[in-house]
Amino acid sequence: MARERLYLFDTTLRDGAQTNGVDFTLADKLAIAGMLDGLGIDYVEGGYPGANPTDTELFATKRKFDTTFTAFGMTRRPGRSASNDPGLALLLDAKADAICFVAKAWDYHVRVALETTEEENLASIRDSVKAAKAKGREVLLDCEHFFDGYKANPKYALACAKAAYDEGARWVVLCDTNGGTLPHEVATIVAEVCKLIPGDHVGIHAHNDTEQAVANSFAAVRAGARQIQGTLNGLGERCGNANLVSIIPTLKLKPEFSGTFDIGVSDTALKKLAQVSHALDERLNRGSNRHAPYVGASAFATKAGIHASAIAKDPATYEHVAPETVGNKRKVLVSEQAGKSNILAELERIGIAADKNDPRIGRLLEIVKERETIGYAYEAADASFEMLARRTLGTVPNYFDVTQFDVNVEQRNNAKGERVTVCMAVVKVKIGDEKMISAAEGNGPVNALDRALRKDLGKYQKYIDSLKLTDFRVRILNGGTEAVTRVLIESEDENGDRWTTIGVSPNIIDASFQALMDSIIYKLVKSGAPA
Ligand SMILES: [Zn+2]
Repeated sequence: MARERLYLFDTTLRDGAQTNGVDFTLADKLAIAGMLDGLGIDYVEGGYPGANPTDTELFATKRKFDTTFTAFGMTRRPGRSASNDPGLALLLDAKADAICFVAKAWDYHVRVALETTEEENLASIRDSVKAAKAKGREVLLDCEHFFDGYKANPKYALACAKAAYDEGARWVVLCDTNGGTLPHEVATIVAEVCKLIPGDHVGIHAHNDTEQAVANSFAAVRAGARQIQGTLNGLGERCGNANLVSIIPTLKLKPEFSGTFDIGVSDTALKKLAQVSHALDERLNRGSNRHAPYVGASAFATKAGIHASAIAKDPATYEHVAPETVGNKRKVLVSEQAGKSNILAELERIGIAADKNDPRIGRLLEIVKERETIGYAYEAADASFEMLARRTLGTVPNYFDVTQFDVNVEQRNNAKGERVTVCMAVVKVKIGDEKMISAAEGNGPVNALDRALRKDLGKYQKYIDSLKLTDFRVRILNGGTEAVTRVLIESEDENGDRWTTIGVSPNIIDASFQALMDSIIYKLVKSGAPA
């Protein structure tokens, strides 16, 4: 049986831009639109031309995407004609493939917020759709507060949706604007709408205020809707929008959906999903959610020994889908509870051949346990575990030695008489017989040390040029008589691969130094740098 086409509409750049603390520049918007386009998202809503300079500029030029690049805006204002509404004119002139109008579908809002009549609101919907169609645009209508509106006055909510459809809107999108509707209500109401408007013209726009935006989206699809609107990483006002990063793999990998629907995201594009999700976080300068379904660092991580040995035999025993399908990795955590089976499973995953009777495996386990009692947490630092394992098994070349480093923090007045704190680090490195000195300033002592350390590694420099620190976490642990500092550093390379390293010391600079060194050496090993 032929599969039906299900469409995805991303509103990261419009609704997602409402997220507290998120402020996209034009460059951000173009980069994110490019990632969404590369994934195969059918519609990318870029913003609201006329609402702010960034969005106006975004739509001033025709953008070259395969996706249907969509501008968002209001229907014509009540009491005006479509040809005499400056806001509508801006929207109609925007260089967009499609226009997504938003209109109220709740009679109460029409009267109280819009201060107009129900009939005038319907006329505004009809006129606006007509005007956009006349401009040759594909048209969508977001029916704001549709579900609450339907509960209050089903006849009027349906009339709003039907007005747009009858006028030729490609999609009528049912919005759960407050995010409070539950899946069984969505299912019932969408089924009613689909009796009036064919489901392949009906979309769902769910917000996550009861943590069910994804479930609501699927409930709508089961009831007949054929377009899902959402955002990357569930960005959006308040609790966010439906998370496309969770929706896409479910549609692709769960037989209920993959057997019934085709979406624009290919199997190859799906493998980029984790990278896209992380790249967005990085652009927003946020740490990624480790527990995010499918793409989080912990999504395929297993801790307990008994699970680890079962996973080594057959991953399907504990995994609902294969991590590689979404560009993620399986991870067996090495922790205090670790047994030999964890260590062996992890060694196998990272490609280190080991014999379970090798006495060095027992020694590695002892070292891990000893270090974890003083504050190391290898389950959170896969790359440091790998370095420890490789060193214990004797396979890490001695690329270079840091013979000395010095970090200086100075507070003084600058030339303008302002009080400033300046950090500088000097690092002495020995590579073979060659000795070199590098100095660098930074916005803090660790940043200065990192920059000095990576400034000049001689013949190894080319291997670490693309190395970036993406996250730096510090925790003070109160174990025993004195506090120690645990530093976790996350790094990324040119392939988008990420790894985490750890350092522990009473001194934050020492702890950071350990983690930085592990990260650099890990990268050299990974790149196959010659000793
Ligand atoms: Zn919304």
